[in-house]
Amino acid sequence: MTTAPGGVSPVMAAALTTRTPLLWLNPAREPGRAETAGSAEFAEAADRLARAANLLATLFPELREARGVIDSPLLAATRLQGALGLPAASGKLFIKADHLLGVAGSVKARGGFHEVLAHAERLAIDAGLMQPGADLAVLASPQARALFAQRSIAVGSTGNLGMSIGILAAALGFRAVVHMSSDAKAWKKQALRQRGALVIEHDGDYAQAVAAGREESRQDVNSYFVDDENSSLLLAGYAACAPLLAAQLGAAGRLPSQDKPLLVYLPCGVGGAPGGIALGLAGLFGPHVHCFFAEPVASPCMLLQMAVGPEQDVSVYDYGLDNKTAADGLAVPRASALVASRIERVLSGVFTVTDEQLLSGLLRAYECEQLEIEPSAAAGFPGPSWITSSDAGREYIERFDLGERLADATHLLWTTGGSLVPREDHRKFREQAIQLENAA
Ligand SMILES: *Cc1c(COP(=O)(O)O)cnc(C)c1O
Repeated sequence: MTTAPGGVSPVMAAALTTRTPLLWLNPAREPGRAETAGSAEFAEAADRLARAANLLATLFPELREARGVIDSPLLAATRLQGALGLPAASGKLFIKADHLLGVAGSVKARGGFHEVLAHAERLAIDAGLMQPGADLAVLASPQARALFAQRSIAVGSTGNLGMSIGILAAALGFRAVVHMSSDAKAWKKQALRQRGALVIEHDGDYAQAVAAGREESRQDVNSYFVDDENSSLLLAGYAACAPLLAAQLGAAGRLPSQDKPLLVYLPCGVGGAPGGIALGLAGLFGPHVHCFFAEPVASPCMLLQMAVGPEQDVSVYDYGLDNKTAADGLAVPRASALVASRIERVLSGVFTVTDEQLLSGLLRAYECEQLEIEPSAAAGFPGPSWITSSDAGREYIERFDLGERLADATHLLWTTGGSLVPREDHRKFREQAIQLENAA
């Protein structure tokens, strides 16, 4: 599907407003181009997270076994591949299991922890408590805690970013303030309060929670605001996963190359997590990685933003959509302009998914692989079928000359959250999925 500059095509507008799933291909992504922008910043983030390993293992007993490394397993998903109907001739399916990321239980551990660490490190350096480039273990010292106790870190969130920022900020001794949108789950608010964060509830959507946090933080010079709509530090934290994933792919004999393309399917909200990951992977694998974002049919903010052009102002409400979805982490009306401009030539495309598809994906992950993910984290599951079996997907395969190489392709579903979901809530999601499948 192609688009006119400055607007979306009538066919696409019709699909969007009627909530019909679609795959949009990014015309600005060209074959054979390598992307290296941002690599210095991303390497710095990877280094910072490595220097934080001792600190994190000290603060959080659950990270001791992993020695404080924030990373998740790469899992072969043979049974799920069968259930999703992806033939072996079209490649091999894997899961990057970020729903298992320690402490925060979602991909937000990558970006969120990185930004809190970067801010705490800056304060500690300015106060003469450490040298640049040193191990961050010193951030748990009594002197550092006394420094942080006079400061706030604030964030606006649908839930998961609040969890990652709030938990780490509180553990370091900051006053942690989390502005939550109305769709945020009660158990996330409760978990945050238990960890010592101040949770402020808002009636409005994600964008309003972010705006409220930004405004309140602006009035307090001792408050630092993590701006999910506009943060290079979050982006760099997400991008820092790339070298870790490269090592895992290498060990599995699937390092991306001309003959072994990597196709990645990433759930997208405001765009920071999937955008950072896509940029990090593009920096390492250049033209051999193809990143597709997945958004709910009610909240396709990045699809719209990229289709009309990164510089234009657009929201899902402009298309009569209500931003109401079972994927609470993806209920975002307006994409990050920063991310949209940075991924302009990296993003391969965006597809949309219904709530029924999200819940079915959640159920399949449980049945086939015994994984407990949240609805948002299943958004990427229809991706391999979109690419291998739709008209738009076949157009992409032809344009990038992937046809002959598909058998050696790696399809990677990024499961972005879920391990902290209460068991009872997960059981209800599965029941709902079964009811919807029986009714269909
Ligand atoms: C936040 C989130 C995403 C998307 O990240 P954005 O930075 O908002 O695009 C995807 N899945 C889950 C579970 C999330 O919490």
